[in-house]
Amino acid sequence: MIQCDRCRISLNDGEGYDFHGKVLCEDCYMYETNPPKACDPTAVSSALSMRKQLGQSGTEGLTELQKQIYSIIEAKGKITKEELAAQLGLKLEELEQQFAILRHCELVRAAKEGDKVYLTKW
Ligand SMILES: [Zn+2]
Repeated sequence: MIQCDRCRISLNDGEGYDFHGKVLCEDCYMYETNPPKACDPTAVSSALSMRKQLGQSGTEGLTELQKQIYSIIEAKGKITKEELAAQLGLKLEELEQQFAILRHCELVRAAKEGDKVYLTKW
């Protein structure tokens, strides 16, 4: 009998997912590989330690879209989500998802100025 390392649910042989040497059930595996919230500190540390483990820094290991987002923010200095989404032809929700990942990796952050929220480099 094996158990999920995270939620302790019992798993049948062959049902567990290997995640950095841990055995996880499908739900926990999805949670660990797709951290749900931008400001969840455990998600941040797991995204960071995963990148460290893979020897990645800067924009290494990012998708083309994530690199594009990062380079636009880098070039502009600061840009609103609306402007960035329009420039990339993305829906705001799609941009939010990508932004959350970049934020986990401490590449970009959101900063409030007056009544606008700008995306800037970390
Ligand atoms: Zn689990």
